[in-house]
Amino acid sequence: MLSLARVCTERAACSIRAVVQVAPMSAGPTAATAAAVAAAARPPAPIHPRHAVVHEVSDHESGGRTIRILAALAPHVSRTALFRLLREGDVRVVLPRPAPGAPAEGSHGCANKRRAHSLRLPTGSLVTAAPAATRMLAVERQAGRDGERWRMQTKVNLPHDAELGVNELIQFATPEVLVVDKPVGMAAQGGSPADMHSSVDALLTHAAERGELPGPDRLAFVRPRLVHRLDRCTSGLMVLARTRSVAADLAHSFAGQTVSKGYLGVVTGVLEPGSTHTINLALRTDGHRVSPCGTDAAGAKAAVTYAEAIAELGNGSTLVAFFPSTGRKHQIRAHAAYGLDMPLVGDMVYDARTGQRPHVPRLMLHASAIALPSINLAITSRPPDSFAAALGLPTSTLDAAVRKVEARVRDSVDLAQSPTSLPSTTSTMDATEVCAEMRALPKVELHRHLEGSLRLESLAALLPVERDEAAAATLAASGGDRMTAARAYYCITTPVTSLTECMDRFGRLQAVFTDAEVIARLTAEVVIDSARDGIALLELRYSPGYIGMACGLDYAAVHDAVRKGVADGRNHPDAAGLVGLGLIGIIDRFQTPAEALTIAKFFVDAGDFIGVDLANDEAAFCDSVFPEAFAHAAAHGLKVTVHAGEVDSPLSAGWVVRAVKEQGAVRIGHGIHVMDADDAVAVVRSAGTVFEISPSSNYLINAVASLESHPVRAMLDAGLPICLNTDDPGLFDITLSGELVTAIHKCGLTRAEVIQANITALDASFLPMSPELAAVRAELETRLAAAL
Ligand SMILES: [Zn+2]
Repeated sequence: MLSLARVCTERAACSIRAVVQVAPMSAGPTAATAAAVAAAARPPAPIHPRHAVVHEVSDHESGGRTIRILAALAPHVSRTALFRLLREGDVRVVLPRPAPGAPAEGSHGCANKRRAHSLRLPTGSLVTAAPAATRMLAVERQAGRDGERWRMQTKVNLPHDAELGVNELIQFATPEVLVVDKPVGMAAQGGSPADMHSSVDALLTHAAERGELPGPDRLAFVRPRLVHRLDRCTSGLMVLARTRSVAADLAHSFAGQTVSKGYLGVVTGVLEPGSTHTINLALRTDGHRVSPCGTDAAGAKAAVTYAEAIAELGNGSTLVAFFPSTGRKHQIRAHAAYGLDMPLVGDMVYDARTGQRPHVPRLMLHASAIALPSINLAITSRPPDSFAAALGLPTSTLDAAVRKVEARVRDSVDLAQSPTSLPSTTSTMDATEVCAEMRALPKVELHRHLEGSLRLESLAALLPVERDEAAAATLAASGGDRMTAARAYYCITTPVTSLTECMDRFGRLQAVFTDAEVIARLTAEVVIDSARDGIALLELRYSPGYIGMACGLDYAAVHDAVRKGVADGRNHPDAAGLVGLGLIGIIDRFQTPAEALTIAKFFVDAGDFIGVDLANDEAAFCDSVFPEAFAHAAAHGLKVTVHAGEVDSPLSAGWVVRAVKEQGAVRIGHGIHVMDADDAVAVVRSAGTVFEISPSSNYLINAVASLESHPVRAMLDAGLPICLNTDDPGLFDITLSGELVTAIHKCGLTRAEVIQANITALDASFLPMSPELAAVRAELETRLAAAL
């Protein structure tokens, strides 16, 4: 599984919250006790100005580790969330000043960040927290174990569409743009300076000031720039540029009408469904409104809107899709009123008869789709509930309308994502044939996390609607459909826009593992599902610590359950094609060197692990090299793979080299940033290191900006051996077959290269060759020859 921390690192390095200060502490418990004794008579160390003291360590707790004390303090906050709070500096520990003569200031930075959770705290140590974290700990404490899960986001009161925070407002984030889904009632710009929620611009500016914008570090503090606007009373998609040059490009695109936009609106009149209307009517601004005029009138601006009637709503109104080809002020509202002679429902400005019509609480206009060919992006937004509710619009009608607008908008521009513009590598086969070929291929997967591969049906059954309000709300929003709800609740299917989103997903997946029986059952399903996808050789990795944390089982008990699940899965009739399966044990970077060695010994002693892996946030835990643990594993025959070079850091390429040289990794999980440094590429090429590539995983957690720009193509061109993997098929709702198709259609690999990647995987497997695997290899060779 990609670890929860790993996805957050883009922000970690420069976010103000990432400055973790662990007050100086001398080396051992004896010195710490001495410091504690001395502390009684000395003033405490300085507290961060924005932090409040939330707890003082008592005699009773003295000597306990930070993480345990925090866990007792806030029992409902997951351990992973607590680790993150510490790592990001939202929660800090202020130790009493050391006694005179004790070693002075310890070094700050990575080593201390890593240790913050494992420090033993003497009496009088203070736990301090930033305002948001204080609320989190307090809310959890009040709510108790069964209370509402606290969600880390700014809540905003808006006049119409209920509460909305920055994280919900932002629908999509890339290094180029932020796309927001603006609610009714919020202005695009301006608003009251005292109320940050009064406009999109104000809210995002506020988030930028606090370094809370999603995406790469360097942009977390950068105020996005408006490139177009929506009226306050219109809901829907708005794009903001994140850099000056993108702003200039997009302004040019909007002005040059190369941006494609689609709106859904309801007009006060009956139009025949399917009828199309072109409204070519110049407009000029007239105070707060616009009015139609001749094209040669003073101030006239040409304006063209295409309209297509979707459905008559039975109350004298019609749902209409609007595609404006110009972007004038109030264009659609004025064109509906003066061009169709049917003002939009709820339009107080352009419908002179609103007073005589039934009251609707909003203007019935929603910006539903936008495509920006210059940055190869198309986004769709479903109208908010207030839209459908206002007129009792059936969900199915609205959904069909949204799909129609989306298709039209995407088709009207030349997007690389569009299935109509596949790269030339597939020219001899159409998309359906490629899918069928990849499904039929006997496949090899080396990088799949058990915890991230759970079957959606099982997750649907385990949906904690009784325990978790968010789960109950998701189920309600899904109309009671548990599968839809499970996908929304557990999966990441569009690139994450916030830390919260990832945190929620990981906490939810971890909570699924409640006991040994569940672990065994879910493991068996993972094995069966892999086989059903045509996987002939599977290396399945998992972290006994991660699973054990959820259910309170020790490593051995967790492993027994996993082992049982593997055996059960392999006995299933559908698993006959799975001829090789090996387990890889994961060491977590947040463990201490001693814990890492303990678990490495466990992996060796268990006798049935084929390899060992290192996972979790490499940027935040960059000192977690654990040479002793890896040396022990290697000395006892376990092969080494390491998650490295995944996140965008200047040090990433170096971490890949370090994994190869110091940890003995023969394979690297992800490793895409090795491409940042030529000398690193040279090292891994001569070492023959194999890269376990997972395109969708990288894309969905924002490690790469798009599938099309994924470095796997460049890695192949640089002569690096790669294999293709899902990483977490359950979390991302993908399959390995689908991932191979993605590699062809999106990442620019040929069919032959994808088949070769399976042969590379088979050759790089930690499992010994067997007659069955040799037969798989021969079959792959045959298919490769046919694809060349
Ligand atoms: Zn992974």
